[in-house]
Amino acid sequence: MLHHIAIVGSGPSGLFCADALLRQRPDLKIDVFDRLPTPYGLVRFGVAPDHQGTKAVTRQFDRLFAGGALRFLGHVQVGRDLPLANLRQHYDAVVLALGAHADRPLGLPGEDLPGRYGSMAFVGWYNGHPDFRDLDPLLDRPGAAVIGMGNVAIDIVRVLGKTRAEMATSDLTAHAADKIAAANFTDLYILGRRGPIEASFTSAELAELGKMERVRPVVKKSDLPEALPAGLDAIEARVKEKNLSILHEFADRTDEKPIRLHFLFNATPDAIVGSERVEGLKIKNGPTLEVGTVISAIGYRTAADGDLPQSDARGVIANQEGRIEPGLYVVGWAKRGPSGTIPTNRAEAKTVADLLLADYANDAAPAKQGSAALDAWLSSRGVHVMDWACWKRIEAAEIAAALPGSPRAKLAAWEDLRKHRQ
Ligand SMILES: Cc1cc2nc3c(=O)[nH]c(=O)nc-3n(C[C@H](O)[C@H](O)[C@H](O)COP(=O)(O)OP(=O)(O)OC[C@H]3O[C@@H](n4cnc5c(N)ncnc54)[C@H](O)[C@@H]3O)c2cc1C
Repeated sequence: MLHHIAIVGSGPSGLFCADALLRQRPDLKIDVFDRLPTPYGLVRFGVAPDHQGTKAVTRQFDRLFAGGALRFLGHVQVGRDLPLANLRQHYDAVVLALGAHADRPLGLPGEDLPGRYGSMAFVGWYNGHPDFRDLDPLLDRPGAAVIGMGNVAIDIVRVLGKTRAEMATSDLTAHAADKIAAANFTDLYILGRRGPIEASFTSAELAELGKMERVRPVVKKSDLPEALPAGLDAIEARVKEKNLSILHEFADRTDEKPIRLHFLFNATPDAIVGSERVEGLKIKNGPTLEVGTVISAIGYRTAADGDLPQSDARGVIANQEGRIEPGLYVVGWAKRGPSGTIPTNRAEAKTVADLLLADYANDAAPAKQGSAALDAWLSSRGVHVMDWACWKRIEAAEIAAALPGSPRAKLAAWEDLRKHRQ
């Protein structure tokens, strides 16, 4: 009988899945594990610090925990601190909502030079992810390049380009705000193999780059087609048309600002140049950009440790419609890869929840014990669970320390987060 469910990962997919399960079966007891003491996954550590509206979805998640049917067990890394096999002994069903947190390699010479960062690490650094608190990226040269033609690349150039005043209402971490303010950028580059039509930016994000105080987008008119190619579906065509019109506006601009943001379409990176650190980025059949920082935003794979199922060649955990095997499921980025927006996870998590409930519709096996036995096991192994009350203390401390106008001053160091254990 289905009674106790464990969800591994407290990002949008895990929490939307919990919501979908509880709507149909309010009697279920669901425990949500996360390796971090803070919930919400990439809503906290991915979504840009100046896009607070997008983060408002956390209020909806908070209501779930307040309801009592959902328990948060933070600071527990499943697979390492707590083997999956053990979890499965105690719960009737387990849902993996691990996300996809490993940066895909560029596969270029010079990739390991200081000054080259993957976007998960770089975004994690400015967003206060404790694993990346001490990244201390090199931002000391006038040029920096972001490889990627999607919204993550746009987020990064926007955060690098905005002034301190423009970020005042954000929750950009103080260590990142100071470092970015000390940088003296004159040329930022956003580049990729794709052309302006294939780029996956969304229009609102693209348009925002044209409204920055000290940044002027630079687009070559000759890179832009006058019209869209045939064969796009209606929704896609609308977005692409809007993007093209924004890019044409950028190409027409002649104003001067301290930082030029160059869009380089159809540009294939060939090598990262430098001996001790990044000195440049060589473009195939093109120039070598004079940059001291290269950030790659080209996608992610799921990294699963210990006895968790490993990701396959596509970088996701192999599954059929979300079922790995009876009793074990996967949702979100770990299931489908890093695509879609936060609401995409809601719809998908509902489908996986429906599948899980259907699998147990005629199940007559006795229900398992859930967390009752597990709590004792965890403390006997020295695993200090940080529960919802701990998170609420972290949150209160962050709000109390916020500068005027900013929603919070994030605690980003492991030791500062762990202080709120008791
Ligand atoms: C830089 C960036 C910006 C984005 N901006 C937007 C935006 O503006 N708007 C938008 O709609 N979407 C945005 N997204 C996409 C959105 O964040 C994702 O769609 C969503 O977070 C995916 O949800 P998830 O639950 O699958 O994964 P995640 O949010 O990554 O959550 C996974 C959770 O699992 C935990 N975990 C992993 N392994 C373990 C383990 N072994 N044991 C315990 N816990 C574990 C992690 O700590 C994490 O909390 C952005 C993504 C990125 C990377």
